[in-house]
Amino acid sequence: TLPTIYAITPTYYRPAQKAELTRLSHLFMLLPHLHWIIVEDSNTTTPLVKNLLQRAGLEKRSTQLNIKTPPEFKLQGKDPNWIKPRGVEQRNLALSWLRSHVDVDRHSIVFFMDDDNSYSTELFAEISKIQRGRVGVWPVGLVGGLMVEKPILNEDGTQVTGFNAAWRPERPFPIDMAAFAISMDLFIRNPQAIFSYEVQRGYQESEILRHLTTRDQLQPLANACRDVLVWHTRTEKTKLTAEVALQKQNKHSDA
Ligand code: UDP
Ligand code: MN
Repeated sequence: TLPTIYAITPTYYRPAQKAELTRLSHLFMLLPHLHWIIVEDSNTTTPLVKNLLQRAGLEKRSTQLNIKTPPEFKLQGKDPNWIKPRGVEQRNLALSWLRSHVDVDRHSIVFFMDDDNSYSTELFAEISKIQRGRVGVWPVGLVGGLMVEKPILNEDGTQVTGFNAAWRPERPFPIDMAAFAISMDLFIRNPQAIFSYEVQRGYQESEILRHLTTRDQLQPLANACRDVLVWHTRTEKTKLTAEVALQKQNKHSDA
């Protein structure tokens, strides 16, 4: 039997949210051994997410949580998105939920799954291969200024010897959040492993991984890191300028 994969998705309201989550929910419909922990960046859980889970038939294998990012850490309208970390609070809440709810005797795996990336179903077959006590790694497309950012392996493809990262290659783990998944027992054994606001830009992945593994312990996946099964796509900010004009028009015709 395949281990359960707990996919942790922080999400927040914006016009494209429902579109992003619909894509993900349909991926989950194809993957019965996934459990979706969806954490809304808001003061309450919302009907939008609840209905979406229901419509995809995912009620029994999803968990809907919420926690709002404190205003001092929230991005403002025109801020470039890299000045503050995103999803910190939400991922930590999901980790604490997992630490108190999962059956530690059964092998399971944790994957941080942002709502706007593009995932192949084949990625999850690879994640299922992660051994107890290990962190699996693989390439990610369209990130870090590269077509493919990926681990570099030894000759027989069994050990990570380095990374091809161009952006901040000096990081302990110069990889994206979508580039790894973690055996759940590591989180139980290392309760200090959480995300933090107190880290430099690009160090969120290194911050969590440094508590859990070392470079030489990483488990390379995806055909010895030759296959790209996930892409760090980003959705363009939706422009709704015509909506304002439409609302004004409606107001006039109401009067
Ligand atoms: N996110 C969030 N609250 C925010 C901004 C982002 O919960 O205020 C979520 C977002 O939905 C995504 C994850 O955090 O699942 C990472 O954000 P984003 O995709 O914007 O980051 P990037 O791709 O730029 O690293
Ligand atoms: Mn993103």
